[in-house]
Amino acid sequence: MAAPRVAVVGAGVIGLSTALCIMETFPSCSLTVLSDQFSPNTTSDVAAGMLIPHTYPGTPIPVQKEWFKETFTYLFAISNSAEASEAGIHLVSGWQVFKNTPKEELPFWSDIVLGFRPMSEAELQKFPQHRFGQAFTTLKCDCPPYLLWLEKRLKATGIQMYTRKVVDLWDLQSEYNIIVNCAGIGAHQLVGDEKLFPVRGQVLKVHAPWVKNFIRDGDGLTYIYPGIHKVTLGGTREKENWNLSPDPGSTKDIFDRCCSLEPSLRRAQDIEVKVGLRPSRQCVRVQKELLSQGGVKLPVVHNYGHGAGGFSVHRGTAKEAARLVGECIAILQGSSSRAKL
Ligand code: FAD
Repeated sequence: MAAPRVAVVGAGVIGLSTALCIMETFPSCSLTVLSDQFSPNTTSDVAAGMLIPHTYPGTPIPVQKEWFKETFTYLFAISNSAEASEAGIHLVSGWQVFKNTPKEELPFWSDIVLGFRPMSEAELQKFPQHRFGQAFTTLKCDCPPYLLWLEKRLKATGIQMYTRKVVDLWDLQSEYNIIVNCAGIGAHQLVGDEKLFPVRGQVLKVHAPWVKNFIRDGDGLTYIYPGIHKVTLGGTREKENWNLSPDPGSTKDIFDRCCSLEPSLRRAQDIEVKVGLRPSRQCVRVQKELLSQGGVKLPVVHNYGHGAGGFSVHRGTAKEAARLVGECIAILQGSSSRAKL
């Protein structure tokens, strides 16, 4: 069989990293990325990009842990290389603080981040409204630079990228042998997945270069994540809300909540407001499906539904999706050699 023609739909962190994993694993395939939006206009561009996993209730914890470990190891190597600045990847230390001691004092990812430990009394004095805390060092992606870095690596391997809205995956059947669906929240319409829903998130990106440590309230709603150039202040989590317009009331509320954790933020400048829709689901869908019409078959690999934690697990799910693409290639090669007999 000629080199399999693979199309990846979507150019957020999941589509681009999946395309990269496919090229690394199957360099002889012909790969195209099709997307109606590229950076800086994806949900992935809005994200804070912190590697702190969100828990997916429908995905087994050992699987989530493996995805996180894979991603952490991959980005840690980049953070220790000359690529770190261009890729926007850096280590960041800080605190996760709780008003009440959480049921689970050791999250499943505590042995993957670096130096995880309970906060000392002296550290907790900085947070008079909180009674318990965890200190650790993790990684942060500055999202637009990381997406551009991924795109650059893909272009260097010769892959094509086209702006195109895909209305029905079957429309691609005449041009491609395998489709990889990384459409994020777009999968709700593209494949009619009713289990996928948006969780609207509004964040502020501010200039506050003196803030070097991250601070996250354990409720997950209020956070301060310093990046290379800007600090991300969050946030909101609004289930089933599709509205992409910034809400001024939320902007004030986010700013006030963050200032109560870090009062020096009152002097922050150049406040930009961003909104994104987290593609949420009980479990990430990393799965093969065989579409069929009139006896013609089209293998599809889905990789979407990463909700609030896409950056934290992207490399792990991309590798899993690439493995499934490999299974599709093996089936296609098997059927083409049978056809020759
Ligand atoms: P997207 O980035 O939305 O990409 C989907 C792509 O598919 C886009 O290019 C889109 O144009 C394309 N597409 C969709 N439909 C079609 C179609 N029909 N035809 C063609 N193309 C199509 N995660 C973390 O791990 N850490 C964080 O700190 C973090 N912070 C966040 C903060 C906020 C405010 C938000 C909103 C999210 C945050 N996330 C975070 C979550 C993270 O952003 C997502 O999990 C991740 O971006 C999902 O990536 P994706 O590639 O699946 O989706």
